[in-house]
Formats: sequence, C-alpha cells, structure tokens
Amino acid sequence: MSSPIGHSLAGCIISLYKESLPGSLQFQSKSILFYLIVANAPDLDFIPGFLAGKPNLYHHGLSHSIGFGVVVSIVATWLITRNTLKKPLREFTFFFICFLSHLLLDLFSIDGRPPLGIPIFWPFSNIYYMIPILPPVKHSLLDHATIGQFLTDLFSLHNLYVAGLEILLSFPFLLILIWQKNRKSQS
Ligand SMILES: [Zn+2]
Repeated sequence: MSSPIGHSLAGCIISLYKESLPGSLQFQSKSILFYLIVANAPDLDFIPGFLAGKPNLYHHGLSHSIGFGVVVSIVATWLITRNTLKKPLREFTFFFICFLSHLLLDLFSIDGRPPLGIPIFWPFSNIYYMIPILPPVKHSLLDHATIGQFLTDLFSLHNLYVAGLEILLSFPFLLILIWQKNRKSQS
C-alpha cells in the first residue's frame, strides 16, 4: 500500500485536473474533500480490524477491488450531484478514476503479507495481483498484529521516507495544476 498522504495527493491531482478541463464549474472545496475520501476509501477496511484490536485483519480485502470502486463512485456521485446540475456520468467517471488511483498505487507496491497484492478484479476474479515496484508502507506483516505493533511500524522512519518520496513525485503535477487553476480563475 501507499500512505494516506500518497493516496490523498493522487486524489488532489485528479480533482484539480478535472476542474481544469474546459466546461468545468468553478473550483469547489467540497468537491476536493469528496476526492480525498474516495482516494482513501479502500483503506477504510482498517476500521473493523481496529475495532477488533487487530488493524491488519481485514486489510486488502474486497474493498480493494473495482467492484467496490463502482459502489463507492455511485454513492459519491449521488451525494455531490443530487442538489446541482452537474453531469452525473462525468462525475462518476472521475470518482472511479480516483478510486482506481488507490488500487493502482497498492497494486504496484511491495506487499509482504500473504495473500500478496489486492483482489483488484473482484467480482470477476478473486485472484490477488501485485506488481512489486514501489516501496511499501510498513504497518506490521502480521495479520494478528496488535494496535501497538501496527502503530510502531506505521510511525517509523521508513514510512517517513515513503511519504517524502510521494510528496516529491506529486509536487510537479500539483504545481502545474494549481498554476492552471489560478490562470483559469483570473481569465
Ligand atoms: Zn489500500
């Protein structure tokens, strides 16, 4: 997996890119909040594990699949378009791309905890896939790790390095898109 910082930055980039396209409405902070939530939605699977005292227990399950992505994108689209004239299909497409960014970042990250990778193609296939290129975010390799073990690994120097790398790689894209946004609001 990537860190919540990496997933959030990907959500920001997709949101800013969408707003920069011709025909987009004025940039809205509410919209970017939705993108941040959708970009991190698969990792909400930590919550039931936390409640059970073992955060990793349900991580990298069906929430990391395109099937779950369709459901999340439909809900987000409904919430953001119900009181506006926004085009639902366009909103759905960008929310789904945002969700996909999470799946792709996790797919390309090294996973040391079996089953390795994510069931990205569920409901069409239950097979787990991984293309180990990106450094992993550590949060213990044990399924039954305690909250203490989980947090010790999470707040490690290694994860600080990963978050720094994510910020460094995202920075040029963010800079270009923010510059475009400012130019658009001035014209
Ligand atoms: Zn994830």
